[in-house]
Amino acid sequence: MARAYNFSAGPSMLPEEVLKRAAEEMCEYGTTGQSVMEMSHRSPEYQSIIDEAERDLREIMSIPYNYKVLFLQGGASTQFAMVPLNLMTGSGKADFVLTGQWAKKAYKEAAKYGKARAIASSEDKTFSYIPKVTPDMIDPEADFVHICMNNTIYGTLWHTLPDTGEVTLVADISSCILSEPIDVKRFGILYAGAQKNVGPAGLTIVIIREDLIGHAMDITPTMLDYKTHSDNGSMFNTPPCYAIYVAGLVFKWIKSIGGLSEMKKRNEEKAELLYSFLDSSKLFRPTVEKGSRSLMNVPFVTGDEALDKKFVKEAAERGLYNLKGHRSVGGMRASIYNAMPKEGVIKLIEFMKEFEEKNNA
Ligand SMILES: *Cc1c(COP(=O)(O)O)cnc(C)c1O
Repeated sequence: MARAYNFSAGPSMLPEEVLKRAAEEMCEYGTTGQSVMEMSHRSPEYQSIIDEAERDLREIMSIPYNYKVLFLQGGASTQFAMVPLNLMTGSGKADFVLTGQWAKKAYKEAAKYGKARAIASSEDKTFSYIPKVTPDMIDPEADFVHICMNNTIYGTLWHTLPDTGEVTLVADISSCILSEPIDVKRFGILYAGAQKNVGPAGLTIVIIREDLIGHAMDITPTMLDYKTHSDNGSMFNTPPCYAIYVAGLVFKWIKSIGGLSEMKKRNEEKAELLYSFLDSSKLFRPTVEKGSRSLMNVPFVTGDEALDKKFVKEAAERGLYNLKGHRSVGGMRASIYNAMPKEGVIKLIEFMKEFEEKNNA
């Protein structure tokens, strides 16, 4: 077996321990005589898998008792509709900060259901920074303020949360969930597609304060009402059973290494290695301003498209996969999620140094 270092933005690497455990249990889970994939979601065996996953996630993220954890489907993209359908029922207004394509999609979708307002944007500089948001910019009547905490495509992160006063803060944390501790009680809703930092695609995690449940618009489809899933323990219909099981293994892995404070330490160490190389390189440069840099997604360019292309190709030949940047930024992007080992980042930097020497005459 030769596992490559996969720098994909998502789906992305999973810890090897998790894959091995899943492989061991592939054909028979415990002594049940069946795979988790074949198991009834109504069976006591599966109930204990989903219960344990929720318990472990609550423990790792220190989720307060007055928040529900929902295991849903439809990706983060479905939350772009689900959040406004459930929350834009007070004033019917909501404020959005545009920090990238996902944030913009959330804004555009909400505009179908109410008065969505963009209060700040960093589009003027290709979303290479997090714009300043001050309390006076926020409509005190807004039903919520929406941010995208880590901008996967552009490589920016909200290092300090905006002060939204009494207004509910909602965040898309798809590409930074479990990368470091987060103060859940600062938010009304946190949501994330699993395929970046949690597990296989197909699972969406929603963490929602209880008082926000049960106020959906009349037009809300049953499946898009948080109450439907909250009342039924995420089992109104068949949940993404296997994805929840693998996510549960990832939660156990995080617990085993020492939780989110240790995860953060490791992620900071990896990111620091990469950014400090990029800041001193004569060939490569990072595209994001200091102070807004993501720990998870690191975009960089040489300034020469042909050279970028050559780099991505030669890196892949070295077992460093998926380094091509998003088409809207160009160049390269290294996604270094939780499961990317430090050795992967070191290998990448070694190759970059070599490439720089050969190509920077
Ligand atoms: C990947 C991503 C999405 C889209 O997620 P899907 O699960 O594919 O819908 C949304 N927001 C962010 C921040 C992402 O990284």
